[in-house]
Amino acid sequence: MIHSLSLINVKLPMNDEKHLYSLSVENGQWTSINKQDDLIFTPDAVPIDSMTGIGENEKKLDLQGKVLLPGLIDAHMHLDKSFCLPQVRNKSGTLWEAVQNYSEAVPAFSKEEIKLRIMRSALQAVSFGTTAIRTHLDFHVKYGSAVALRTVEAALEAKEALSPYVDLQLFPLTPISGFNSDEIEVLEEAIRMGMSGIGGAPHLSETPEQDIDRLFRLAQKHDCPIDLHTDENDDPHVRTLGHIAKRTIDFDFSGRVTVDHLCSLASMSDADAGSLIERMTEAKIDAVTLPGANLYLQGRHDTFPVRRGITRVKELLAAGIPLATASDNIHDPFHPFGRGDLIQIGLLTAYAAHMGSPADIRTLLQMITEIPASILGIEGYGVRVGNEADFVVLDGTTPEELFTMLPERRWIYRKNGWLKLAAKRAGWVDPVLDRYWNDAEINFPFGNNTFVPRI
Ligand SMILES: [Zn+2]
Repeated sequence: MIHSLSLINVKLPMNDEKHLYSLSVENGQWTSINKQDDLIFTPDAVPIDSMTGIGENEKKLDLQGKVLLPGLIDAHMHLDKSFCLPQVRNKSGTLWEAVQNYSEAVPAFSKEEIKLRIMRSALQAVSFGTTAIRTHLDFHVKYGSAVALRTVEAALEAKEALSPYVDLQLFPLTPISGFNSDEIEVLEEAIRMGMSGIGGAPHLSETPEQDIDRLFRLAQKHDCPIDLHTDENDDPHVRTLGHIAKRTIDFDFSGRVTVDHLCSLASMSDADAGSLIERMTEAKIDAVTLPGANLYLQGRHDTFPVRRGITRVKELLAAGIPLATASDNIHDPFHPFGRGDLIQIGLLTAYAAHMGSPADIRTLLQMITEIPASILGIEGYGVRVGNEADFVVLDGTTPEELFTMLPERRWIYRKNGWLKLAAKRAGWVDPVLDRYWNDAEINFPFGNNTFVPRI
């Protein structure tokens, strides 16, 4: 069905904040983007505030100066683990206990339960305006191929079911070490089944350089990108980053390697950090900061002053490193909070990295939109004629207002139609969403209303 839509009085902070815009969409693509001289009043435009239901009939909407962003991009989540905190606890609050406890719990999880967690948390992220997610997947091959591959199967099924709502990229977390040839065969099977790339956490290994080399050889063989949890540690001597940069150049993988966390970078001297950042720049490595999880997990062994855990956000940005900010874990032993809302993550980043100036706030918007879009390799991203019109309208008129108010009301448009994400709350009907929300509530401990998404 060809659907056309026109929008007036739109604020586009990613394009130009001095003007309001009139936009039109035909068949899921932007067809015109025009600057307005002033506010437009026309009787045939429906004010978005009064849009009832899902807006199938409203062909012309007045956004009343509200902000429109391209669909938000979450560069780093763990959808298969989300909401498992009731089953897997973490008394110490350390990364180490989270890894241990989750590892012990893995054999008991069914494929359906894992799929449900992926569906539930991805849909919740969509309800806040996210339209693409890179998720890392647990890959506990030490329990045998069936355990490792059931997460892969659950994720592939969820990815297909979620395709009207969100694009998923899937990166298996390769084992830390002691990875024998049979286990490599299982990983290669997972890649052949449809993984988007290879993940891992080599700083946890006793032989990190060998592990990094092996990951690069595998990525080269299968021609896929690499995304590594890197130096998620307060110890300034944990520095696998340098070896990753070296191998990125050796394997000619520039532009295809992402490093996440980089906590130790914040613990070392300016001179040491500066030289590592320079090597990242030379190797053209992308990076992701995860402020929620790292503020929570790091510094646990410090006495005051306690380190903040977050990497050197401003230094990385100043060096020209593409740096996204992302959700990481949600309500699991690694991180008991979070809701898959990148505006909330932007606010956390602002606090943790001291980013509050007008320029900083606009950089934060880049870190949840254009920068992660480039890291994920999403083409045709952004509000430009000819690009896909996947977007979110937020109930605020300036970037400052978004990070101050974290507006609950958001209208999400994707693949030629409004997403029906407030189905339960507003009484709208969407069989796919309703099914998964209902299923999710069976295992969810806080009652039916707490995590219902809102527009
Ligand atoms: Zn992670």
